[in-house]
Amino acid sequence: MSPVRVRFAPSPTGFFHIGSARTALFNWLYARHTGGIFVLRIEDTDKERNGEQFLNVIYESLRWLGLNWDEGPGVGGEYGPYRQSERTAIYREYLEKLRAAGRTYEKDGATWFKLLGERSEVFDAHRQRTVTKVQVAPTVIDDLIRGRVERVEDEDFVIVRSDGSPVFHFVNVVDDIAMRITHVIRGEDHLSNTSKHVELFKALGAPVPQFAHIPLILKQHGPGKMSKRDQGALVEEYQGRGYLPAALVNFLCLLGWNPGADREKLPLEDVIRQFDLPGVNQSNARFDDKKLAHMNMLYLLEQPADRFVALGRDYFQRHAPGAPALQAEPGYFREVLLLSQPKIKGLEELPAYTRYLFSDDYPVDAKVQEKVLAKGDPQARLRELIAALPGWDFSSDAAIEEALKALAASRQLGFGDYQAVARLAVSGTNVGPSLTSLFRVLGRDRVRSRLERLLAPA
Ligand code: GLU
Repeated sequence: MSPVRVRFAPSPTGFFHIGSARTALFNWLYARHTGGIFVLRIEDTDKERNGEQFLNVIYESLRWLGLNWDEGPGVGGEYGPYRQSERTAIYREYLEKLRAAGRTYEKDGATWFKLLGERSEVFDAHRQRTVTKVQVAPTVIDDLIRGRVERVEDEDFVIVRSDGSPVFHFVNVVDDIAMRITHVIRGEDHLSNTSKHVELFKALGAPVPQFAHIPLILKQHGPGKMSKRDQGALVEEYQGRGYLPAALVNFLCLLGWNPGADREKLPLEDVIRQFDLPGVNQSNARFDDKKLAHMNMLYLLEQPADRFVALGRDYFQRHAPGAPALQAEPGYFREVLLLSQPKIKGLEELPAYTRYLFSDDYPVDAKVQEKVLAKGDPQARLRELIAALPGWDFSSDAAIEEALKALAASRQLGFGDYQAVARLAVSGTNVGPSLTSLFRVLGRDRVRSRLERLLAPA
């Protein structure tokens, strides 16, 4: 068996889409699983629709996801160049081969590929013109995911347009031959092209690669395939929102591939070990942004403290460069972030979640305030807390909890009688980290001034 060579062949016609990322990932996984080669090839023959800026988005998104290519732009390799716009001479050479074999003809200035079989001119009422029908046996594709697929390709097709530019089908096949591609792993939207491609491989006397067509990604809501315009469809959006690439990769692995057991979080090494093409589902996978957010949360939770703090700082720097958080003393910043780590679902929640921890200027939830101040004697509880605070040990959550319980016991009250009003005073809300952690991180002085502020609003 020759070593596996797979390729990811994007056209730089738009931003990098979740579907493209998954196709790239499955190719990469297959290469890593088999010890093969992952080629990046840029299909940029359509000059009108290609943009240099989109090229960089592709490179950056792949790098961000960690999908390194073994051959391709920037890396080189034996079968370059890896941009189709630089391969004109190669296409001319292969076109000559087809021509010499009698498999092409010119019509209306274009070059057509000639199928083999009995030919007849038929008037096509729908298209209002005469077409050449060819009697052929169906093309059989033994797809590694879809199984046996048969398609009848019974009309010649254009391979070079009248303006001289070669058509996708032709350059795609030429490059798969020239780059010695053994497995074509791509989206199911290309299944309908595959019979044309198989005929071209055969006409060029080349071995037909194995095909594996990956099912589509369905829109989260409503019918149909997810498109670039759908919300949450672009990879860079997740990058911007501070998602962890490992979480997105894990999510994409499970979008159409089934590891057998019902597992969600999977180390990449395990995926590489287990990944195989027959394990890819035949049915379409539905995109689910909640699942992705959940996956991201699982990855955030397990980040080592230093790493999480660095990620948080980076997020603030990019999204809230003027935030008081960045002026905070580093030790304090770290405490606040570690307090938030188990509580937030994504880094994008950080600025709002931590606002009252970095500044005295934060919103107070009016509904919560009304409810809390209507119950029991909150003013008395505030006064008692303020009076007791100077004697408390603030060095640990446990010490603070003990002091608070002792205060409550001395008044024949419970922890709960102090909890809501104290939390309201120090945070303006009724949710967040534990009250004792809040006290510890905020420190005695800040806690006192906030308790006083609620007791006697200015
Ligand atoms: N350039 C094609 C696309 O972006 C790739 C087709 C293929 O993988 O064969 O859809």
